Amino acid sequence: MKFESKCLHSGYEPKNGEPRVMPIVQSTTFTYESSNEMGDLFDLKAEGFFYTRLGNPTLDFVEKKIADLEGGVGAMLTSSGQAASLISIMNICKAGDHVVASAAIYGGTFNLFNKTLRDMGIDFTFVPGDATEEELKAAIKDNTKAFFTETLTNPALVVTDIELWANVAHEIKVPLIVDNTFPTPYNCNPFKFGADIVVHSTTKYMDGHAVQTGGVVVDSGNFDWVASGKYPMLTTPDESYHGVTYTESFGKAAYITKARTHLMRDLGAQAAPMNAFLLNLGLETLPVRMERHCFNAQKVAEFLENNDMISWVNFPGLESNPYYDRAKKYMPHGTCGVVSFGIKGGREAATKFMDSLKMASVVTHVADIRTCVLHPASTTHRQLTDEQLIAGGISADLIRFSVGIENIDDIIEDITQALEACK
Ligand code: PLP
Repeated sequence: MKFESKCLHSGYEPKNGEPRVMPIVQSTTFTYESSNEMGDLFDLKAEGFFYTRLGNPTLDFVEKKIADLEGGVGAMLTSSGQAASLISIMNICKAGDHVVASAAIYGGTFNLFNKTLRDMGIDFTFVPGDATEEELKAAIKDNTKAFFTETLTNPALVVTDIELWANVAHEIKVPLIVDNTFPTPYNCNPFKFGADIVVHSTTKYMDGHAVQTGGVVVDSGNFDWVASGKYPMLTTPDESYHGVTYTESFGKAAYITKARTHLMRDLGAQAAPMNAFLLNLGLETLPVRMERHCFNAQKVAEFLENNDMISWVNFPGLESNPYYDRAKKYMPHGTCGVVSFGIKGGREAATKFMDSLKMASVVTHVADIRTCVLHPASTTHRQLTDEQLIAGGISADLIRFSVGIENIDDIIEDITQALEACK
């Protein structure tokens, strides 16, 4: 099946007499006729569900669909994008390990790494989002266990050179983890360019309707944990799970199996079945929505670029954008609906503009079907110092405009009248 058809049909395949629409299995637990049968599930000798924290049919359908869309061997839904990023690192790093990460990643992920995981003993070196090979290599330490970046960073819209990051990571036999939230697998498949693990905040375009928070970790199955020799947690027996050696028992699915049996078991950051159901509704229309988001965003970016009141526009679909060529390589059909720009008059003008919008709403959210707008420096990224903001490519006047799927004429009209109000 092609991508559009997979969005509708992959994961859940109803049999004779079963519901056509993927059902919500709203049950914490599952019954078995004997303790032995259940024991086999605990020992990972048999497949099945026993407790929703570790697995649930509704979650399973959606996990299979997303794994298929990304081209991975397995996926695990989480309660939020934050939980997905946390698990993606914790699954292979412990106190004393080190990670190279892009400084341009989402502010919440930056704080998770720079504060919480650092406090827990995992060290991070942040490099520019468009770091050169030399800069990436200079950040490596003896204890480096992973590289982490975003395909298209939020909100600076740096287009990552995934192949470069993957090559540098693989030279020292560690995996590249990529947050693919903004382009979604419709616009970019990081695995095709060498990424090993993909994470998403499904709260964004994958759902698209702003009705659930969620995340997902997807395993490409391509990284050779045994050959690397750096991940005893995957290649030696896990005493906390009946002595299982993940690489021996689960082969290519070692990483994603451990994420579930070890970390989901211990952290309990699972998605709710109802949220997985809502996410699936969003996934069904992902391709048509992304097409419209990209079309509308292109028009908005071109309109802003030709407006005297705008000091700068950042959208990788503009030929003037420094990442235009790279975006064509990694996201040939479009990037996403987010456009960032600055208004002449700086922070004050930005606030006036946002307050004057009538249709677009001022929200913390992004990647919604409804056009929405945010000033990151005073909201999502307010914990960051000026230096950290600059490293992340976020200026004080940056407005993050998330273009929805309304009629483009209405969006442009709203922007026009808000700009008039700033005169
Ligand atoms: N990754 C990116 C790129 C994001 O934009 C966000 C949230 O905005 C997250 C991760 C965190 O996701 P969530 O808000 O679902 O926890």
